[in-house]
Amino acid sequence: MTLHIFNTLGRTKQPFEPADPERVTMYVCGPTVYNYAHIGNARPVVVFDVLFRLLQTHYDDVVYARNITDIDDKILAAIKASGEDMGVFTERFAQQYEEDMAALNALTPTLRPRATDNIEAMLAFIEVLIAKEHAYESQGHVLFAVESMAEYGALSNRSLDDMLAGARVEVADYKRYPGDFILWKPSVEDEPGWDSPWGRGRPGWHLECSAMIREHLGDSIDIHGGGQDLIFPHHENEIAQSVCAHGGEYVRYWMHNAFLDMNGEKMSKSIGNVATVNDLLKSYRGEVLRYALLSAHYRSPLDFTDELLSNAEKSLNRLYGALRASAEVDIDMEITLEGEAFYTALNDDLNTPRAIAALHDLASELNKAEHDEKALLKGRLLAAGDLLGMLWQDPEEWLQGGAAEHAISGDEVELLIAERLAAKSARDYARADEIREQLTAAGISLEDGRDGTQWRRLTQS
Ligand code: AMP
Ligand code: ZN
Repeated sequence: MTLHIFNTLGRTKQPFEPADPERVTMYVCGPTVYNYAHIGNARPVVVFDVLFRLLQTHYDDVVYARNITDIDDKILAAIKASGEDMGVFTERFAQQYEEDMAALNALTPTLRPRATDNIEAMLAFIEVLIAKEHAYESQGHVLFAVESMAEYGALSNRSLDDMLAGARVEVADYKRYPGDFILWKPSVEDEPGWDSPWGRGRPGWHLECSAMIREHLGDSIDIHGGGQDLIFPHHENEIAQSVCAHGGEYVRYWMHNAFLDMNGEKMSKSIGNVATVNDLLKSYRGEVLRYALLSAHYRSPLDFTDELLSNAEKSLNRLYGALRASAEVDIDMEITLEGEAFYTALNDDLNTPRAIAALHDLASELNKAEHDEKALLKGRLLAAGDLLGMLWQDPEEWLQGGAAEHAISGDEVELLIAERLAAKSARDYARADEIREQLTAAGISLEDGRDGTQWRRLTQS
């Protein structure tokens, strides 16, 4: 089955063909490490994690790089305020980021280059751009001259005039043309900086990604991803730098996820509705957040609400319920992905809502199946879950886990169930009912079966 990807460059869905049929290269713009990642930042991480998993079903060698921007004006502002050492500060947030993304079951990328480890490559890159007259030095800055590139604006479909009309182009007296962007800027006084032919300074953000891609993946890569806000200016400027410096095709497929909003509003500090992954993990399990993030197609906006999370938890309970009911079924077989509905859906430009619907169909079939059909269905359900990065936990533990903080612990539930059983044996039905009511009030549902009583937490709604 051929993977199809919607390419932002040209805005069409295209069959995916890597430049080298043996090796796929993918780069996703990573975080600027100066604060906690919010749930919007987690959307590209989870989306491209699914793509990474999917690519590995097609190709043995998939190199996935996600950078860390550890030098930036926002970082400098934060350390100026706190007086902390920049390396210590950025390391703390970089680690926090890795932990939070791991809690969403995102695989560790193959490479995680950091901007400050690649300054030499950035300096060399700028030298080439200056030598080819695509960049110029001015008042300690080096700028890219956008007028020197005829095709500038192809990704975002903008002419130079459109871009100047946009608010994001900063006018400054050191620029020859207002749309020119910074490759290198001077560091003043005690600001962190590196020596360069243009004085002590630091790299521009757009340059970091172009230089790290060249250094770690090569002049041309197959897939470049990020959120849609990065199309302009960040990715447009990456193309300009890389094509003008080294020629050829910089990126074969550009992919951009749409934005996540919070209860119908853009997340913003001024509204005070920014939910960090770290905080959400205190109330919801990582898999619930992941399910919610994948419940919409990556190119559609996603409204993040309590209801979305509550539905995600209920849906996962249903899937895990099917797995628990077939806990005794062994699956020692190869699962063929080809022809499976979830696999077809994911190969169609990562259609995760359709893949999730296929997961539920498999769970229904598994619930109804005769014993000898169960192994194949369970195998398919787990294989589908694996591609989406879900259903990896023990079903019993999942169903008894509930929200991260509970009024009643699992041990207490077990004790009360044992007491209820004893009451029933002693024909003290009033006490047995009382315990059931007590557990229901605490959000615990009981199911009496031949093998004893099973319990699970009810989702708050
Ligand atoms: P930043 O740290 O702002 O550069 O963002 C890191 C990544 O998260 C980029 O790929 C952004 O495009 C993406 N991103 C930021 N905010 C959102 C959001 N609300 N929804 C989806 N993606 C976002
Ligand atoms: Zn980037």
